[in-house]
Amino acid sequence: MNNQLLREIPKVDDLLRSPTLASVCADIPHGALVEAVRGVLAELRSGVLAGTLAALPGEAELSQAAAARARRASMPSLRGVVNGTGVILHTNLGRACLSKAAANAAAAAAQNYSTLEYDRETGKRGERYAHVEKLLTALTGAESAFVVNNNAAAVLLILSALAAGGEVITSRGELVEIGGSFRVPEIMESCGARLREVGTTNKTYIRDYERAIGLETRALMKVHTSNYRIVGFTETVSREELTALGHAHGLPVIEDLGSGSLTDLSLFGIRGEPTVQESIRAGVDVVSFSGDKLLGGPQAGIIIGKKQYIDLFKRHPLTRAMRVDKMTLAALEATLRAYADGTALQEIPTLAMLSAEPAALRARADALCAMLKEAGVPAAVVPVEDQVGGGSVPMQMLPSYAVAVSPEGMSVDALETALRFSEPPIIGRIDHGQYLLHVRTLREDAFPHVADAMKEALR
Ligand SMILES: *Cc1c(COP(=O)(O)O)cnc(C)c1O
Repeated sequence: MNNQLLREIPKVDDLLRSPTLASVCADIPHGALVEAVRGVLAELRSGVLAGTLAALPGEAELSQAAAARARRASMPSLRGVVNGTGVILHTNLGRACLSKAAANAAAAAAQNYSTLEYDRETGKRGERYAHVEKLLTALTGAESAFVVNNNAAAVLLILSALAAGGEVITSRGELVEIGGSFRVPEIMESCGARLREVGTTNKTYIRDYERAIGLETRALMKVHTSNYRIVGFTETVSREELTALGHAHGLPVIEDLGSGSLTDLSLFGIRGEPTVQESIRAGVDVVSFSGDKLLGGPQAGIIIGKKQYIDLFKRHPLTRAMRVDKMTLAALEATLRAYADGTALQEIPTLAMLSAEPAALRARADALCAMLKEAGVPAAVVPVEDQVGGGSVPMQMLPSYAVAVSPEGMSVDALETALRFSEPPIIGRIDHGQYLLHVRTLREDAFPHVADAMKEALR
């Protein structure tokens, strides 16, 4: 231990009074600066005590360190990142990005008073959910519609309202776990409903449901296997068969669609993802889906179907605990309007990314690659496969392009870390010793930042 060095570490107040510090930290609030100076000096002390510091840095260096520390501490914790993973609905990166119109609507609702629960026609109290109900019924063909905080809440509400104290019949092949401990059997249990599993993992026939129907049965449930597929020797029951059976026995048929696409994704080569409209057309009584998966809107759980059931949900005591806020409703209304106006494919980022043509993606990759080379970064365009993500369409890879960087004189892990610490953070992938940035999820206005950060990291 070096007692002499320890004694030479400046006092917090002395460093705070230094003109050098004042010159580099003019924009930093005093409280934050005091914290930062304390932190920097504490680090010095532990460095000296551990014997890793042979000499103390000068006042200029300490001032810079304190300024950098204060700026880092004042950054918002939840902030934007550059998504170079090629996963469109990246759950950890916030799932769907809103359209400009939806984001503006949410901001306006946040900053102003609104007609949230006010009916201008009568001057009296209005209905919070009325803002999206007409759009939802017009777009899906359902009789009625309702919205809660997310699809997990929607499923909870539907089962609580329709099946508490009774049985729900579901195929063994559809007992989904979507992560975050949301598992169909356990959700049923927490709603006070009993799960009656029928069929086997790979095959379930209509007669399996039929045989299980009894006095305790409250509903037949279909769950979209959004994040896995059972392939090979399989048999599932169609919605038409299931609704015919349910209705013959006076039982509601409910479906958790998971993603809930309003667009036919087979147009972009994505198969096996049913549309919400298909489900309603097949006669399913209650359908629920997420707002921030393939719909491309805000986090929400959308419930559509027969009015008699939707009315039950609106009156259920749990509903108040799942109420959506005004920003969500404003963003959802604007998102749905884009579908109604026929501009969804261009305006909604999720759909624009899903439907991007390989040639357009190639051109974007070429543009980024050229920009990187210009900055002296050794880059190349490589073919890759992107994913929809968010537990949607698990088997489908979307052919695309990435820009690959194989750093010289630096490990690829070190490059990945450096970019993650750039401002804003850049999140890419490492594959076979290369650093990859998939262009499908990268916005073009982020390209200059990517080039600067890459150049800086490789310096
Ligand atoms: C994603 C998903 C949910 C949950 O939806 P959230 O909006 O994330 O709450 C429920 N069921 C299925 C089948 C899903 O894919």
